[in-house]
Amino acid sequence: MTRIVALALAAALVPSAALAEPCPGSPQALGTARVIEVDVKTTPRVGRKHFPTTLPLRAKELVLTFDDGPWPGTTPRVLDALKRECVRATFFLLGRNAEANAGLARRTLAEGHSIGHHTYSHPELNRMPLDKAEAEIDRGIAADEFAVYGHRRTDPVMPFFRFPGFAATQPLLDRLSDRGIVVFGADVWASDWLPMSPEQQLDVIMARIEQAGRGIVLFHDTKQQTAAMLPAFLRALKQRGYRIVHVVPAGIRGALN
Ligand SMILES: [Zn+2]
Repeated sequence: MTRIVALALAAALVPSAALAEPCPGSPQALGTARVIEVDVKTTPRVGRKHFPTTLPLRAKELVLTFDDGPWPGTTPRVLDALKRECVRATFFLLGRNAEANAGLARRTLAEGHSIGHHTYSHPELNRMPLDKAEAEIDRGIAADEFAVYGHRRTDPVMPFFRFPGFAATQPLLDRLSDRGIVVFGADVWASDWLPMSPEQQLDVIMARIEQAGRGIVLFHDTKQQTAAMLPAFLRALKQRGYRIVHVVPAGIRGALN
């Protein structure tokens, strides 16, 4: 697939207006309130846990993100829950998992979610020489792009990246900015790497969201406890008046004009 065809595919899945979309057959669904374009020129790094700035979100607006997938068993449940509520999220794929589960990677895009990158094998990039670290990033991007779009490229269709374990270095951050790739941290995380019941997980993340009031929320779609609590989580957000914002790369809609 050529880059322009890949962009067309991705652009066709991005909502045409930055407004709420109806959720067919589910008027009570949480939905996706609006879409914002994220531009490396204005916001090269976002997420206050790691960087001084984050996305320009209003009170009670959340961006949902999922790392480390796609993973059989859990990612389909996460996608099902999001689809039921017409919620669009961003998935930071691990290259080796995208390679092994390409159908799930394609399904993620086909259901309107944004596809970001998270290296090939999840090493701590701050413990590697710069050239090896960048090669690992590129191997991940190429594997993800091949799984999703059928073309092995290192200039991603959606230039979003998150460091494994948030282990960034300044030279790598600079290099990614130079390449037009936005680095995502997080404003709120679920700590779903710690084993807990789905009920406990729901309590933890809701308490943190209530405290933060807005922001980029980090989950792992590889975790059973997260997949299990997601339907109740999305219902709770609706009941408490939160709104979902979908992030897309700047210019993706205009890429074909
Ligand atoms: Zn990760």
